[in-house]
Amino acid sequence: FLPHLVASLEKVDQTYIMVKPDGVQRGLVGEIISRFEKKGFKLTGLKLFQCSKELAEEHYKDLKQKPFFPKLIDYITSGPVVCMAWEGVGVVPSARKLIGATDPLQAEPGTIRGDLAVQTGRNIVHGSDSPENGKREVALWFKEGELCDWTPIQAPWLRE
Ligand code: GDP
Ligand code: MG
Repeated sequence: FLPHLVASLEKVDQTYIMVKPDGVQRGLVGEIISRFEKKGFKLTGLKLFQCSKELAEEHYKDLKQKPFFPKLIDYITSGPVVCMAWEGVGVVPSARKLIGATDPLQAEPGTIRGDLAVQTGRNIVHGSDSPENGKREVALWFKEGELCDWTPIQAPWLRE
Protein backbone atom coordinates (compact mmCIF):
# COMPACT_ATOMS: atom_id res chain seq x y z
CA PHE A 1 0.00 0.00 0.00
CA LEU A 2 2.63 2.51 1.05
CA PRO A 3 4.93 2.21 -2.01
CA HIS A 4 1.89 2.62 -4.26
CA LEU A 5 0.81 5.70 -2.36
CA VAL A 6 4.31 7.14 -2.64
CA ALA A 7 4.43 6.28 -6.35
CA SER A 8 1.09 7.92 -6.99
CA LEU A 9 2.39 11.07 -5.33
CA GLU A 10 5.36 11.25 -7.71
CA LYS A 11 5.07 14.29 -9.90
CA VAL A 12 4.11 13.72 -13.51
CA ASP A 13 5.77 16.37 -15.64
CA GLN A 14 5.30 17.36 -19.24
CA THR A 15 7.83 18.28 -21.86
CA TYR A 16 7.59 19.92 -25.24
CA ILE A 17 9.47 18.00 -27.93
CA MET A 18 9.69 19.33 -31.47
CA VAL A 19 11.11 17.82 -34.64
CA LYS A 20 12.69 20.86 -36.28
CA PRO A 21 12.31 21.58 -40.04
CA ASP A 22 15.53 19.70 -40.91
CA GLY A 23 14.27 16.59 -39.10
CA VAL A 24 11.01 16.76 -41.09
CA GLN A 25 12.83 17.37 -44.41
CA ARG A 26 15.25 14.51 -43.73
CA GLY A 27 12.43 12.04 -43.09
CA LEU A 28 13.32 11.51 -39.42
CA VAL A 29 9.89 12.19 -37.89
CA GLY A 30 9.01 8.54 -37.28
CA GLU A 31 12.48 7.72 -35.95
CA ILE A 32 12.39 10.60 -33.47
CA ILE A 33 8.84 9.92 -32.24
CA SER A 34 9.80 6.29 -31.87
CA ARG A 35 12.66 7.03 -29.43
CA PHE A 36 10.26 8.62 -26.92
CA GLU A 37 7.49 6.11 -27.58
CA LYS A 38 9.80 3.13 -26.98
CA LYS A 39 11.19 4.66 -23.79
CA GLY A 40 7.73 4.52 -22.25
CA PHE A 41 6.58 8.11 -22.01
CA LYS A 42 3.00 9.09 -22.77
CA LEU A 43 2.20 11.12 -25.88
CA THR A 44 -0.49 13.70 -25.14
CA GLY A 45 -0.21 15.98 -28.18
CA LEU A 46 1.06 15.67 -31.77
CA LYS A 47 0.78 17.83 -34.89
CA LEU A 48 2.57 18.93 -38.06
CA PHE A 49 2.69 22.71 -37.97
CA GLN A 50 4.13 25.70 -39.81
CA CYS A 51 5.08 28.15 -37.07
CA SER A 52 5.09 31.93 -37.36
CA LYS A 53 8.07 34.17 -36.70
CA GLU A 54 6.24 35.56 -33.64
CA LEU A 55 5.75 32.10 -32.11
CA ALA A 56 9.37 31.09 -32.80
CA GLU A 57 10.59 34.32 -31.14
CA GLU A 58 8.39 33.74 -28.09
CA HIS A 59 9.55 30.13 -27.80
CA TYR A 60 13.24 31.14 -27.92
CA LYS A 61 12.85 34.47 -26.07
CA ASP A 62 15.65 33.62 -23.61
CA LEU A 63 18.10 33.55 -26.55
CA LYS A 64 17.07 36.93 -27.99
CA GLN A 65 20.47 38.52 -27.24
CA LYS A 66 22.49 35.71 -28.88
CA PRO A 67 24.23 36.50 -32.17
CA PHE A 68 22.67 33.43 -33.79
CA PHE A 69 19.09 34.40 -32.82
CA PRO A 70 17.99 35.71 -36.29
CA LYS A 71 19.42 32.59 -37.95
CA LEU A 72 17.68 30.41 -35.37
CA ILE A 73 14.30 32.03 -36.10
CA ASP A 74 14.84 31.62 -39.89
CA TYR A 75 15.72 27.95 -39.31
CA ILE A 76 12.73 27.12 -37.12
CA THR A 77 10.28 28.87 -39.46
CA SER A 78 11.85 27.49 -42.67
CA GLY A 79 9.34 24.63 -42.97
CA PRO A 80 6.89 22.56 -40.97
CA VAL A 81 7.83 21.22 -37.56
CA VAL A 82 6.32 18.33 -35.62
CA CYS A 83 5.07 19.45 -32.21
CA MET A 84 4.74 16.93 -29.42
CA ALA A 85 3.75 16.92 -25.78
CA TRP A 86 5.02 14.02 -23.69
CA GLU A 87 4.20 13.23 -20.10
CA GLY A 88 5.73 11.13 -17.33
CA VAL A 89 7.67 11.08 -14.09
CA GLY A 90 11.09 12.58 -14.84
CA VAL A 91 10.24 13.14 -18.49
CA VAL A 92 12.07 16.50 -18.79
CA PRO A 93 15.65 15.46 -17.89
CA SER A 94 15.17 12.02 -19.43
CA ALA A 95 14.07 13.49 -22.77
CA ARG A 96 17.11 15.81 -22.72
CA LYS A 97 19.31 12.74 -22.28
CA LEU A 98 17.60 10.92 -25.15
CA ILE A 99 18.12 14.03 -27.32
CA GLY A 100 21.79 14.55 -26.43
CA ALA A 101 24.04 17.62 -26.31
CA THR A 102 23.15 20.80 -28.23
CA ASP A 103 26.19 20.31 -30.50
CA PRO A 104 25.59 17.00 -32.30
CA LEU A 105 29.35 16.41 -32.58
CA GLN A 106 29.51 16.40 -28.76
CA ALA A 107 26.32 14.34 -28.37
CA GLU A 108 26.88 10.73 -27.31
CA PRO A 109 26.20 7.92 -29.77
CA GLY A 110 22.81 6.45 -28.92
CA THR A 111 21.25 9.88 -28.50
CA ILE A 112 19.06 11.37 -31.23
CA ARG A 113 21.50 14.18 -32.07
CA GLY A 114 24.52 11.90 -31.57
CA ASP A 115 23.13 9.38 -34.05
CA LEU A 116 21.40 11.59 -36.59
CA ALA A 117 22.92 15.11 -36.80
CA VAL A 118 26.27 16.88 -37.29
CA GLN A 119 25.85 20.60 -36.53
CA THR A 120 24.35 22.80 -33.78
CA GLY A 121 22.51 24.93 -36.34
CA ARG A 122 20.83 21.77 -37.73
CA ASN A 123 20.31 19.68 -34.61
CA ILE A 124 16.89 18.32 -35.68
CA VAL A 125 15.04 18.29 -32.36
CA HIS A 126 14.04 20.46 -29.40
CA GLY A 127 13.31 19.43 -25.81
CA SER A 128 12.27 21.61 -22.86
CA ASP A 129 15.03 22.26 -20.32
CA SER A 130 12.95 22.37 -17.10
CA PRO A 131 9.50 21.25 -15.91
CA GLU A 132 8.47 24.94 -15.80
CA ASN A 133 9.52 25.45 -19.41
CA GLY A 134 7.85 22.14 -20.32
CA LYS A 135 4.54 23.52 -19.10
CA ARG A 136 5.13 26.91 -20.69
CA GLU A 137 6.10 25.49 -24.07
CA VAL A 138 3.26 22.93 -24.24
CA ALA A 139 0.82 25.76 -23.52
CA LEU A 140 2.53 27.96 -26.12
CA TRP A 141 2.43 25.43 -28.98
CA PHE A 142 -0.88 23.66 -28.29
CA LYS A 143 -4.37 25.07 -27.99
CA GLU A 144 -6.85 23.69 -25.51
CA GLY A 145 -8.57 20.72 -27.12
CA GLU A 146 -5.43 19.69 -29.01
CA LEU A 147 -4.12 17.65 -26.07
CA CYS A 148 -5.49 14.24 -25.08
CA ASP A 149 -5.64 12.81 -21.60
CA TRP A 150 -5.68 9.03 -21.88
CA THR A 151 -4.47 5.94 -20.05
CA PRO A 152 -2.01 3.79 -22.00
CA ILE A 153 -2.83 0.12 -21.49
CA GLN A 154 0.88 -0.61 -20.83
CA ALA A 155 0.98 1.64 -17.75
CA PRO A 156 1.22 -1.20 -15.15
CA TRP A 157 4.06 -2.76 -17.19
CA LEU A 158 6.12 0.41 -17.10
CA ARG A 159 5.97 1.35 -13.41
CA GLU A 160 5.59 -0.94 -10.38
P1 GDP B 1 19.11 23.14 -26.68
O1 GDP B 1 18.30 23.35 -25.44
O2 GDP B 1 20.03 21.94 -26.59
O3 GDP B 1 18.26 23.07 -27.93
O4 GDP B 1 20.10 24.39 -26.85
P2 GDP B 1 19.90 25.96 -26.52
O5 GDP B 1 18.65 26.18 -25.72
O6 GDP B 1 21.19 26.46 -25.97
O7 GDP B 1 19.74 26.60 -27.96
C1 GDP B 1 18.50 26.48 -28.66
C2 GDP B 1 18.80 26.18 -30.10
O8 GDP B 1 19.48 27.29 -30.69
C3 GDP B 1 19.74 25.00 -30.34
O9 GDP B 1 19.08 23.74 -30.30
C4 GDP B 1 20.24 25.30 -31.73
O10 GDP B 1 19.26 24.99 -32.73
C5 GDP B 1 20.38 26.83 -31.67
N1 GDP B 1 21.75 27.23 -31.29
C6 GDP B 1 22.30 27.20 -30.05
N2 GDP B 1 23.58 27.63 -30.08
C7 GDP B 1 23.84 27.93 -31.39
C8 GDP B 1 24.98 28.41 -32.08
O11 GDP B 1 26.03 28.66 -31.50
N3 GDP B 1 24.86 28.58 -33.43
C9 GDP B 1 23.69 28.32 -34.12
N4 GDP B 1 23.63 28.52 -35.45
N5 GDP B 1 22.59 27.87 -33.49
C10 GDP B 1 22.66 27.67 -32.15
MG1 MG C 1 17.17 25.02 -24.84
